[in-house]
Amino acid sequence: MQLLKDMIVEYGVVLPGNILKVDAFLNHQINPDLFMKMGEDFKEYFYDKGITKVLTLEVSGISMALTTAYHLGVPMVFAKKDVSKILDEEVFQAPVYSYTKGTEYQIKVSKSYLSEDDRVLIIDDFLANGQALAGLIGLCEQAGSHVAGVGIAIEKAFQDGGKRHRAAGVDIYSQARIKAFEDGQVVFED
Ligand code: 5GP
Repeated sequence: MQLLKDMIVEYGVVLPGNILKVDAFLNHQINPDLFMKMGEDFKEYFYDKGITKVLTLEVSGISMALTTAYHLGVPMVFAKKDVSKILDEEVFQAPVYSYTKGTEYQIKVSKSYLSEDDRVLIIDDFLANGQALAGLIGLCEQAGSHVAGVGIAIEKAFQDGGKRHRAAGVDIYSQARIKAFEDGQVVFED
């Protein structure tokens, strides 16, 4: 998606450890025009997949999942992050290891909002090692929901998450695929 790539080039900052900071328009301050267009773009890719629900992870996934769900005309659910590992009968729960923070946390969704009747579109801001995505897919598996697709804003294609999940048969569409960071600059695929 050219607009997103343009914003990354103009406002993104490459930090040590191969981290791309996009606080200026995506992770802290939000550009509404961009997010509306991202939602439309995800809809164009996934409109014929019979999606009944959009699932994301708080906090950064929420805005783009909302515009996507709006354009698809379906509800959006966000998994909540929690440090507590105590099992709760009322929720589906999966562990996620964060490489950026070096910690493990639990993600949880109420059993009321995911079911075996759902065809789920998972949306997230970044795909790197694929841990967050594995957790979200795990929640769908527990619910018996079908993962109909995955929409990612920024995929760091030099990390193996995308490759691994695609090899497992997951239909992943990324709006911007980064091949490498070179001298503090972003190099895109294609
Ligand atoms: P993964 O689980 O695929 O390794 O990483 C996905 C999560 O880590 C994303 O939801 C995002 O919060 C965070 N993340 C990974 N890489 C980056 C990055 O380069 N920049 C930012 N801002 N977040 C990242």
